[in-house]
Formats: sequence, C-alpha cells, structure tokens
Amino acid sequence: MNNRVHQGHQARKRFGQNFLTDQFVIDNIVSAINPQPGQAVVEIGPGLGALTEPVADRMDKMTVIELDRDLAARLQTHPFISSKLTIRQQDAMTVDFGELARELGQPLRVFGNLPYNISTPLMFHLFSYTNSISDMHFMLQKEVVNRLVAGPDSKAYGRLSVMAQYYCQVIPVLQVPPSAFRPAPKVDSAVVRLVPHAEIPCPVSEVRMLSRITTDAFNQRRKTIRNSLGHLFTPEQLGDLGLDPALRAENISVANYCKLANWLCEHPQPTQEP
Ligand code: SAM
Repeated sequence: MNNRVHQGHQARKRFGQNFLTDQFVIDNIVSAINPQPGQAVVEIGPGLGALTEPVADRMDKMTVIELDRDLAARLQTHPFISSKLTIRQQDAMTVDFGELARELGQPLRVFGNLPYNISTPLMFHLFSYTNSISDMHFMLQKEVVNRLVAGPDSKAYGRLSVMAQYYCQVIPVLQVPPSAFRPAPKVDSAVVRLVPHAEIPCPVSEVRMLSRITTDAFNQRRKTIRNSLGHLFTPEQLGDLGLDPALRAENISVANYCKLANWLCEHPQPTQEP
C-alpha cells in the first residue's frame, strides 16, 4: 500500500504534508482550541480537512490558508463545509495577519498542523502580528515545542524560547506519536498553545535589537557572553547590568535579554567606518 496516498491525494513532501488520521488526537486538539461561533478562526494548512471539518462544524464561517492548489480546490467543493470556508490559496508566510484581523473585525484565533519545514519562520512571522491575535494552537515537532517552552539553564533554551516567551505565554497541550499521521513523520509531534501577553512583561524599545542580541548570543552558545556579546558590551557594562560576563547564552533569562536590548537601544554603537 502506498502510504503517501491519503483520501486519493498524493502527499507532497515539499509542502510538509503529513495528514492527521487519529480521531482521538483530532478530538483533543479541537477541544483544546474550543472554537466558538462568531470568533475569527483561521487555520493554516487545512490539507484534507482533518481539523477543518470538526472546527467548521462548530462555526458559521472560518478562514483557511492553504498553499497547495489541489487541496484548496478540494476544500472549495467540500460537500459539507465549503459554504462556511473563506479559502485563501496562498503561502501563509505572505499573509498580513493584521489586515486579516481588521477585515474580520476582531483578533484572530489561529491554529494549524503546521508544515514542519517552515514552522519556525512561520511562527516568527506570526509573532510580528501578536497585537492582532488572541491565541494560536499549533502541531509542531516535539523538539520545537520543547524549545518554545524551555526556560534558562536548559539545553532546549534558545533564541526561539526567548522570542516566543517575549511575545506569548507558551503552554504545551498534547504529545502526538508518528502513528497519528499519514504518512507517518519520522519524529514525535506535540501541540502547543501560544497566548500573546495582554501586556508584554518586559517590553523592549526595538524588537530587532532583542533579535540581534539573541542571535549573536545563541550562535555561539558554548561561549561566555563576555565573548559572544563582546562586540556589543564590555565586561564592565555587563556587570553594571547585573550580568556575570562568565555566563553563557542559555543562562540569561528573557527579562535580562530585554534589559540588554534596551541598554543597546539607549547606547547605540558608533557606526563602523568601511
Ligand atoms: N491540517 C491537515 C491535517 O492536519 O491533516 C494538514 C496538515 S499538513 C502537516 C500541512 C498543510 O499545510 C498541508 O496541507 C500543506 O499543503 C499546507 N502548507 C504547506 N506549506 C504551506 C504554506 N506555506 N502556507 C499555507 N499552507 C501550507
């Protein structure tokens, strides 16, 4: 039997197509989302509708964003739910979620069993719209969920943890084995809930500065911050900010990364001469 064909559709690797087939898992995800009529519910990557159908059952209408033209066309002619769907045949990376929230007149509830090949850049894209999003539920590789929820002093703690937790409260919901999908992926999966903070706990004046510092620190995570951030801060400046220069990237809390970013915003580096 060809395991890549599901409901007559040949799964496309380049679109990260692993379709959910386990009804228990599907029910659990829909209960976790708890969609209510009238809400602005948006699914990324509806595929063959494993989650779309039970969610649409509870809604009058919902929006779906699907890159695969064939799958978008199938949903267009779905016998039961097509009339409830607004289908965007589009790359979710190019969707302006702020504009979509304005169109729908309220903050979005976004969910999806995300294509694993683009899940991290897609989450970064969504983080830039957290003002327009009330919550997100995503199926991801388990390892990515571990990184999203990780706190300091752990191996999984990294740039993704800091940026996700800067914007959102991150709550693991459910672990999902490969057998719940067709074709089965090679890795374990997990569902996570991301709830944008009503007020960012430690706001930074420029997010790009937080992004830069975390990139520089975690790109050399084995080095002390005296070295990995030495081009931005002297050991004395780190000390003045309450940080031991002998710490490593994984020992710095989100709040302290924000403190570093704000200090850098207030003390811009002199522009380097070419
Ligand atoms: N939701 C379905 C399920 O749970 O069975 C399908 C999930 S499958 C892991 C990922 C889905 O995202 C596929 O339908 C794929 O075509 C779609 N997809 C892949 N890349 C996308 C992108 N950039 N934007 C929107 N959808 C995308």
